[in-house]
Amino acid sequence: MTAPLVDPFQRTIRYLRVSVTDRCDFRCAYCMSEDMAFLPKREVLSWEELERLCRAFVRLGVRKLRITGGEPLVRRDVMTFVRALGGLLGAGLDELTLTTNGSQLSRFAGELRRAGVRRVNVSLDTLDPDRFARLTRRGRLDQVLDGIGAAKAEGLHVKINAVALKGDTEEEMFDLLAWCAAEGHDLTFIEVMPMGDIGNEMRLDQFWSLRDLRARLAERFTLVDLAERTGGPARYARIAETGQKVGFITPLSHNFCESCNRVRLTCTGQLHTCLGQEGASDLRAPLRAGVDEAGLEEAVRAAIALKPRGHDFDYSRGVAGRIGRHMSHTGG
Ligand code: SAM
Ligand code: SF4
Repeated sequence: MTAPLVDPFQRTIRYLRVSVTDRCDFRCAYCMSEDMAFLPKREVLSWEELERLCRAFVRLGVRKLRITGGEPLVRRDVMTFVRALGGLLGAGLDELTLTTNGSQLSRFAGELRRAGVRRVNVSLDTLDPDRFARLTRRGRLDQVLDGIGAAKAEGLHVKINAVALKGDTEEEMFDLLAWCAAEGHDLTFIEVMPMGDIGNEMRLDQFWSLRDLRARLAERFTLVDLAERTGGPARYARIAETGQKVGFITPLSHNFCESCNRVRLTCTGQLHTCLGQEGASDLRAPLRAGVDEAGLEEAVRAAIALKPRGHDFDYSRGVAGRIGRHMSHTGG
C-alpha cells in the first residue's frame, strides 16, 4: 500500500483543493482588480493533465477534493472533469465538492449531483441587488439566487460563504443569517485575507475582524462554541436562541495552522502547501516532461515535504504580511 502524505509537522494531507481556472465572470472587489490579466491558455493544464494529478493525490491518500477557481463553472467542459473525479468516489475518494459564485448553478446543479457532488459552497456576501452589483462589479444577484435554488432543488447541500466586509456585512449580517436559516443553508463568515493587488480599494478599509462580527452577533444572540472541527480553518458556534450553526474562518484574528490537512493545486500545476506563504512547487514541469506515475508521486511527496508550519498573513507588517498572488489563482 502507498504510504500517505505526511508533512514535516506530522500533519497527514487528506484534502486537495484544485483551482481549475483563474478566470471568472465576476470581479469581486476583495478578490480581483477591475482589469485583471488572465493566464495564457498554454500555461493552463488540460483537463487530462489535471485529472492525472488528482488521481496521483488520491492514490497518495487524499480523501476529499474540492474544485474551485476562479469560477470553476465557467471553464469549458468542466463537467467532463467533474464526472471523471466523481468516478473516484468510493475508490479512494470520500467526497467531491465545489466552491462557486453560483452564477452557473442553474445550468449545472443537476449534472453536479449526477456526478456525485453532494455539497456546494456558494459565495454570497449580500442579499441586496445593488450592493451585490457593486461588490462583484458584474454579477447579478437574481442569477445567483436562482442558481442556489436550483442546487437546493437537486438535493445539493448548500453552504453560504460570506466575506466579512466593513460597512457592508456589518449592515447585513442579521439578514444573511435569517435568510440562511429560512432556506436551510449553513453560513460561514470569512475574514478578508491580504492577497493580490486589487487596485485602488484599500484592503484595510475592507477588513472587518470576525471578533467584531462575533461581538455584534452576541449583542442579539447567545453564541455557544462547538468543539466540531473539520480539519479546516472554520470554527463553529451555535446560536442558542435559534439552533442555527455559524462558521467563522479567521486567519487573521486566530491562527488555524496546527491542524491544516490541505494543499492547493493551481490550474498551472503549482502546488501551494500553504495559502498564506509565497512558496509553491511546480508539478507541471514533471508532468509535461513525461514522468511516469511513480515519478509524479515522487514530485508530490517532495512538494509536501516543504509544507511550512503556518501562514504569514499580518496586516500590521505592511507589505511583508501580504501575499502577492490573487485568491482566484490559488483557489479560495
Ligand atoms: N469563484 C468561486 C467563488 O467565488 O466561490 C470560487 C473561487 S473564490 C477565490 C473562493 C472564495 O474565496 C470565495 O468565497 C471568496 O469570497 C473568497 N475570497 C476571494 N478573495 C478573498 C480574500 N482576499 N480574502 C478572503 N476570501 C477571499
Ligand atoms: Fe470570481 Fe470568486 Fe474571485 Fe469573486 S471571489 S472574483 S466570484 S473568483
